[in-house]
Amino acid sequence: MSANLYDLLAARFPADRSRPCFLLSDGAEVSYGALENGVGRIAARLLAEGVEPGDRVALQAEKSVEGVMLYLAALKAGAVFLPLNAAYTPAEVEYFRADAEPRLLITDPAAFLAGAPAEPLAKSTPRAASDLAAIIYTSGTTGRSKGAMLSHGNLAANALALYDAWGFSPDDVLLHALPIFHVHGLFVALHCALLGGCPMVWLPKFADAEVLAGLARATVMMGVPTFYTRLLANPEFTRERAAPVRVFISGSAPLLESTFAEFEARTGQRILERYGMSEAAIIASNPLDGGRVPGSVGFPLPGVELRIGGGEETGVIEIRGPSVFSGYWRMPEKTAEEFTADRFFLTGDVGRQDPDGRVWISGRAKDLIISGGYNVYPKEVELVLDEVPGVVESAVIGLPHPDFGEGVAAVVIGQGDEAALIAAARAQLAAYKAPKRILFVDDLPRNAMGKVQKNLLRQRYAELFIG
Ligand code: AMP
Repeated sequence: MSANLYDLLAARFPADRSRPCFLLSDGAEVSYGALENGVGRIAARLLAEGVEPGDRVALQAEKSVEGVMLYLAALKAGAVFLPLNAAYTPAEVEYFRADAEPRLLITDPAAFLAGAPAEPLAKSTPRAASDLAAIIYTSGTTGRSKGAMLSHGNLAANALALYDAWGFSPDDVLLHALPIFHVHGLFVALHCALLGGCPMVWLPKFADAEVLAGLARATVMMGVPTFYTRLLANPEFTRERAAPVRVFISGSAPLLESTFAEFEARTGQRILERYGMSEAAIIASNPLDGGRVPGSVGFPLPGVELRIGGGEETGVIEIRGPSVFSGYWRMPEKTAEEFTADRFFLTGDVGRQDPDGRVWISGRAKDLIISGGYNVYPKEVELVLDEVPGVVESAVIGLPHPDFGEGVAAVVIGQGDEAALIAAARAQLAAYKAPKRILFVDDLPRNAMGKVQKNLLRQRYAELFIG
């Protein structure tokens, strides 16, 4: 039997194909029937243009319904989908083009659909579970961006596990304001909705007014932490506005405990935080029923084996399971380096698992600071700083230091007195962990998924201790 992911999804589309799939802001709707027709027509055009099984089909465009159709059509046609951030410059796109050698690079999926044959492709190209479905280039902040190879089986396993874990049913309506060039919006959110044959409130991006209006129709919202801080900054976001939504899910970057607490105070609801990455989709999640613990990303999903490497309580998180990718595109050596002999993938995230099995993340391994020979986990310092009145958010980094190798510095959103904040940190932390300098800023640099870009901070303040 074919393991084509599109067939799995389409088998669960509503029997009544006139049911809506996309609810657009202007009041228009796109039905499941129209989705299926568009997918079939684009798939027919892909084949007509000579796309063969395993060929890469790249998309670089703003978020659209036709972009989703193109993704699903690539699956249906047996091609490998390659989504690219619309914000990439031509030089960046050139790197991906040279590396992935896509048969087609589509920048206007609506025009591509308009030029497709009238007759949809009837039958999907059969695929084995191990055949590639997509290549997702990691947002890698250093070195060359790596293409994570995800198979039909990887994506199907994760989608089915999440659908169950988060209690999805055909009655759900998902608020979708995420980009679709990234795992979060393209796989995690989209697949859950499609597996239920659910409608999605389909927003091109996060905009306060549209999200607030969309909440009235939604039962599930998925977002990055900045979505939630932006909602909280808007006084119109109230308990009543949040009430139709049964679960707010957060991921792609750490959710501050203060955001969790403020959200609960405002709405009475506890955000469900989960943890994932391009190489494995979702790895761990707080439970739908039972305790959602702020600061923890919850339990490994069913089927995911998770362990901490290095023999200490805190170390690099290693994972194995059906959703874990098979390797980096055309980088066998890099792939070999990042898997253990028994096929666990080294996530590069540092964390620990408590006796109950909950996972706690303390940051990226490459953000670990070694100051005077001692390891400093930035998260531990950030948690202390974030508790100090006047501090909204902090990012702790290591900077070149003449005596210590690296010196601990904190970049802080908020106001305050540098000496007082250092003293507050010292009161709770060993001296080597406390920041030696604090830099106050209005905002922290973030990527499209809301992740703080510590590499940019390290560059910006590189001379702080040696200047
Ligand atoms: P990406 O491959 O762009 O999705 O980035 C994956 C990385 O985002 C992970 O390796 C983590 O470092 C980080 N991440 C994702 N979700 C969380 C979370 N809930 N808490 C902390 N870090 C997270």
